[in-house]
Amino acid sequence: MTKQIGFIGLGKMGAPMATRLIDAGYQLTVYDLRQDCVDALVAKGAQAAASPAAVADAVDTVLLSLPEPTIVRQVALGTGSANGVIAGAKVKTVLDLSTTGAIAAREIAAALAEKGITAVDAPVSGGVAGAIAGTLAVMVACPQARFADLQPMLAIFGKVFFIGERPGMGQTMKLANNLLSATATAATAEAIVFGVKSGLDPAVMCEVINAGSGRNTASQDKFPRQVLTRKFNQGFTTGLMYKDVRLCLEEAQAAGVPMTVATGVRELWARANAELGAGSDMTAIVQLLERATGVEVKSS
Ligand code: NAD
Repeated sequence: MTKQIGFIGLGKMGAPMATRLIDAGYQLTVYDLRQDCVDALVAKGAQAAASPAAVADAVDTVLLSLPEPTIVRQVALGTGSANGVIAGAKVKTVLDLSTTGAIAAREIAAALAEKGITAVDAPVSGGVAGAIAGTLAVMVACPQARFADLQPMLAIFGKVFFIGERPGMGQTMKLANNLLSATATAATAEAIVFGVKSGLDPAVMCEVINAGSGRNTASQDKFPRQVLTRKFNQGFTTGLMYKDVRLCLEEAQAAGVPMTVATGVRELWARANAELGAGSDMTAIVQLLERATGVEVKSS
């Protein structure tokens, strides 16, 4: 496969993934709305392009790491402008690392297919730390033959899973994963605040939970590292987590799957989004309960 890759969206996840590609010997053509994000990659050897279409004029494979489905649609298809990836002269494959949900992935894939461009959905899980270390889970949906070609490049990001050939199957996998991550974080916040309000030490609580059956990614990682230390710097925003839970519920409803727990989880994330702000770190969700109860979850 070509060693020349386009990369659009150089944020918290995109920048470390793009950097890993450069370190592995790939030549990158990059674009982001934020000049500081572009400059950081150019300093590492990437070439800057003036628009998504200009990236797609330069290379045949374009990767996207963008916040949400509306933006992915706009960048890929150029809705309302001629600047979308779809207008590029060279592009043959658009590989989306963002979390958009399957409905958007299918729409985008259908529009790209009309121009002979293959869409690959390859959302990732494992956070900024995983993006830096190359230990993400990568959930790929695309034609099998294309997968064989892309697999070595995607392995630079972490462990690669072929989910299926139908567009959006990787996205469905990702929404199921993030529903669990969002639920674990919200439920752990409730359990720990309940303990602290009742006089327990949160560090001891995490240790016991992690030795017992309540163990989860929030009790093992997010609470000890980000909440008890009061750092609140996991690198994933409340707004993006709320988007993922919302998309999961919308798509579950479309699939005819009732979700009682997820409905409550969405309510808590909606409140976190409104009260703490979309840009707050997702681990700050515990502050909603701290405010309501007058306790603080921190190491003594
Ligand atoms: P981010 O906001 O840090 O990065 C997004 C980047 O896209 C920013 O640099 C922004 O300037 C750029 N951008 C926005 N609109 C643009 C446009 N129209 N044209 C070009 N660039 C544009 O977000 P992130 O945390 O890196 O997340 C990216 C995607 O990965 C999201 O879909 C998110 O749900 C998913 N994700 C994030 C994490 C995480 O831990 N942060 C983990 C797994 C998956």
